[in-house]
Amino acid sequence: MEFSSKLLEKAVGEVSQLPGIGKRTALRLVLHLLRQPKEQTQTLTGALSAMRNDLKFCESCHNLSDVAICEICSSVHRDKEIICVVEDIRDVMAIENTASHKGIYHVLGGKISPIDGVGPHDLNIPSLVEKVKSGGVKELIFALSSTMEGDTTNFYIFRQIQGLDVKTSTIARGISVGDELEYADEITLGRSILNRIPFEASLKQ
Ligand SMILES: [Zn+2]
Repeated sequence: MEFSSKLLEKAVGEVSQLPGIGKRTALRLVLHLLRQPKEQTQTLTGALSAMRNDLKFCESCHNLSDVAICEICSSVHRDKEIICVVEDIRDVMAIENTASHKGIYHVLGGKISPIDGVGPHDLNIPSLVEKVKSGGVKELIFALSSTMEGDTTNFYIFRQIQGLDVKTSTIARGISVGDELEYADEITLGRSILNRIPFEASLKQ
């Protein structure tokens, strides 16, 4: 692609770094911004840098938050004794959309995957185990996708807290193997949380 302007070339180059956006789409987006009032570009870049600079991870559940403890963890309407364990923040959003979970969350930040070199200590697993050990947790609901890595992760956590006074359950598999939670429809996902089964029963299947 030949550019008559270095500034244009640089902007297109940066936008095309985003996933799913090729050079042609990047050029279309940049030209669109050029046709809009300057303020719109400033609002966009301002929103992106504020997000990048000020967004935090909740110190308790590792969900994204504007403050140290996220809205879900600090809400008086949520049951702090029931923790739904998810892979990433998109799963929190998907489950929140179902309005079927009245407890709180714990975001692991991934799944155990020896092939990719991801071990338990690369994830927010130690803080979850600590939380359970320190008491006040009645139930852990495993809501990871039912892939081999998801199952390995569930089982690892289960072993870590086995013998402690906590119930473990897993979401019912209305969701077929390998489906990511994010893509499950709200009704199916909501139902699978309400119809969760004891984790040990899922091992025998
Ligand atoms: Zn939180």
